[in-house]
Amino acid sequence: MTATLRAEGVSKSFGGLQALSDCSLTAEAGRITGLIGPNGSGKTTLFNAITGYERIDAGEVYLGDRRITGAAPQRVFAYGVGRTFQLTRIFPRLTVLENMLVPAQRGLSGRRHREHAMELLSFTGIANHANALAGTLSYGQRKLLELSYVLVADPAVVLLDEPAGGVNPSLINHIAARIRELNQGGKTFLLVEHNMDFVMSLCDQVTVLDSGTVVASGTPAEVRADPRVLDAYLGGAPGDDPPVAAEPPAVGDQSRGTPDDVLGGSHG
Ligand code: ADP
Ligand code: MG
Repeated sequence: MTATLRAEGVSKSFGGLQALSDCSLTAEAGRITGLIGPNGSGKTTLFNAITGYERIDAGEVYLGDRRITGAAPQRVFAYGVGRTFQLTRIFPRLTVLENMLVPAQRGLSGRRHREHAMELLSFTGIANHANALAGTLSYGQRKLLELSYVLVADPAVVLLDEPAGGVNPSLINHIAARIRELNQGGKTFLLVEHNMDFVMSLCDQVTVLDSGTVVASGTPAEVRADPRVLDAYLGGAPGDDPPVAAEPPAVGDQSRGTPDDVLGGSHG
């Protein structure tokens, strides 16, 4: 069972800084929705607002018909919304398998839990590292461990904060393929990612944030063609090529000098 996740009119300030202003976003059930925007535009804050890690000043969050505004992280998780973190939250001095078995993951125990954990590690491609200390994993492998971990409880909706950030191109393709496969199995995804090829080839819908405000929302093609999106990334500098491409490039395409790089170039 999966459900549409909606944020409506969400606002959040940190002291004098308005991190989110009246933001609305829909992650349609069974779809992959992308959330993009420059560094500091509020993407992670919106994830935190949705998943209960940050109290919001105004607005509502719904999972299907259920209002989940202000629910604690464990409760949001219990409702079926899992998430990963931009900076991975793994235990470096536990093994990869032990990370999968930490007590925070309830519902399965003992041998079944271990088997399930190993199946997930096989699925994400890091089962051969099961007994390695998590701290010895490469950055990309840590991202895969986080993805494995969030799948343990089989959440209907998964929020991924920069799943490809800092990951080498071959692993990026691997991560994209796993997300696509999970989505074909019915999982709903909402993902933040700076890698524009990744976003545009994977997502059904894309929402663009700039300075805490939603400036565009639509299909990848619509968003690419939206002048406000270029404004958000380049501050409306005159003389730049518009961010229009006839075909979305393949995930992991590392070609340089295209408008996609302009949109995909910032990391953080
Ligand atoms: P993004 O994920 O799009 O890069 P963030 O959501 O992390 O952006 O941050 C949005 C803005 O809110 C930034 O200006 C950031 O410095 C600020 N911010 C985020 N979290 C906090 C916090 N806990 N306290 C103060 N300011 C914060
Ligand atoms: Mg962020």
